[in-house]
Amino acid sequence: MESPSRSFVIIVGAGVSGISAAKLLAENGVKDLVILEASNCIGGRIRKENFGGVSVELGAGWIVGVGGKESNPIWELVAEYGLRTCFSDYTNVPYNIYDRSGKIFSSGIAADSYKKAVDSAIRNLTNQEEADREGNSSKTTEPPSSPLELAIDFILHDFEMAEAVPISTFTAFGEREFLVADERGFDYLVYKMAEDFLLTSEGKILDTRLKLNHVVREIEHRGSGVRVITEDDCIYEANYVLVSVSIGVLQSNLVAFHPPLPRWKLEAIEKCDVTVYTKIFLKFPYQFWPSGPGNEFFIYAHDQRGYYTFWQQMENAYPGSDILVVTLTNGESKRVEAQSDEDTLREAMEVLKDMFGPNIPDATDILVPRWWNNRFQRGSYSNYPVISNLQVVRDVKAPVGRIFFTGEHTSERFSGYVHGAYLAGINSSKELLEEMRKDNKRKNKSQSRVLEPLSALTECNIPRQ
Ligand SMILES: Cc1cc2nc3c(=O)[nH]c(=O)nc-3n(C[C@H](O)[C@H](O)[C@H](O)COP(=O)(O)OP(=O)(O)OC[C@H]3O[C@@H](n4cnc5c(N)ncnc54)[C@H](O)[C@@H]3O)c2cc1C
Repeated sequence: MESPSRSFVIIVGAGVSGISAAKLLAENGVKDLVILEASNCIGGRIRKENFGGVSVELGAGWIVGVGGKESNPIWELVAEYGLRTCFSDYTNVPYNIYDRSGKIFSSGIAADSYKKAVDSAIRNLTNQEEADREGNSSKTTEPPSSPLELAIDFILHDFEMAEAVPISTFTAFGEREFLVADERGFDYLVYKMAEDFLLTSEGKILDTRLKLNHVVREIEHRGSGVRVITEDDCIYEANYVLVSVSIGVLQSNLVAFHPPLPRWKLEAIEKCDVTVYTKIFLKFPYQFWPSGPGNEFFIYAHDQRGYYTFWQQMENAYPGSDILVVTLTNGESKRVEAQSDEDTLREAMEVLKDMFGPNIPDATDILVPRWWNNRFQRGSYSNYPVISNLQVVRDVKAPVGRIFFTGEHTSERFSGYVHGAYLAGINSSKELLEEMRKDNKRKNKSQSRVLEPLSALTECNIPRQ
């Protein structure tokens, strides 16, 4: 093992929360910090890749919550840095639902089913809340069973109502959503934040305080400080550590804590679910799907819930790119991650042929991100149970001695989102700065206690005039 390197604060993870936290610390004079990042770049779950001649977002793509009373801080940053965005209009989604023979469900039937599903979801939530209050088991409405009902249930629960209603992001920031579609990528925003406090040149971070490809495997904590050990046996010591790894990573055994985290902390971490959300990109030689206003999103109704249900064409985002995106979640995401991309391509093509007929061209390329099998992520975002006690997220966030926690999963109001991660980073840094102040005061006090007898002696010896 190499001899330890020493700093005041160590930040584990350089996603949006780790970088926003480090920036605030630096702005408050804590410049003696080190950021240890497991992968080869900053941004974490904000990640672009070149595909089919354009830059596509494998992770976060949308700024969710725009146009409301308060301004979404990510929307403000995106405007400040001039990133290109497109408004996502979901109003036609219920009228673009295809059955397996390629027929679109009539707008009356689809709208009716949609309304029924929304009403029943709200009824289920209210029943559950009542049952929780009274300690009974809740009455649930009939589960969806037809392909149309299953498709609508998927849209509502795996997209719109995955959180408890009212959705705090919408209440605070508004209900509009904008897709980032910029060749520089959404992660440009994270880079610009880093540029404020790290040494950069020509779009590259040169600052030695950022350590990429450094996988933390152990965090030892004592009353006096912390020691962080990486997989390549480097040792970093500091007064504090701020851990920004995802909830999925906390639930895995990638990072060991010595002594182990207390039971209340581990229980809270276990209680939070992890959603896996996968955007599969398909490149075609030409466009064969309907275009124009109202056609950006379309739905495939199958008797297996979530089977290649939610489709988006990228014409708004990248005109002329001839790219389709299909979104899978949870069980379907894990199933597809485990199979070859050729199998996934074959399945997706069968679905597209059901919708648009047998004569459509084959996709020329496919991109399947694997967020679940990525050991530095283990899923896409946190999903606190719909009826969940705020105490769970507070325990997930609460520091343990000199170990502080941040990340989207520590945000009480906006978990799961980029703005949640950004604000969580700021919040955790403020708490850490407060703790540093208290620690300083405690030190000054104990120093003055040691000095008290001495100053008493000195006072006695001062000759009286
Ligand atoms: C597919 C997908 C789609 C999404 N869509 C949206 C969207 O449209 N809108 C939206 O607002 N949000 C979306 N999100 C969620 C959003 O991306 C996250 O909430 C946010 O980016 C999380 O930031 P973070 O800093 O909390 O975590 P991360 O970005 O995960 O940062 C944590 C960092 O820690 C690093 N790390 C992990 N383990 C270690 C270790 N042992 N040692 C060192 N470093 C380590 C990781 O590599 C990572 O860089 C999406 C996420 C995914 C995956």
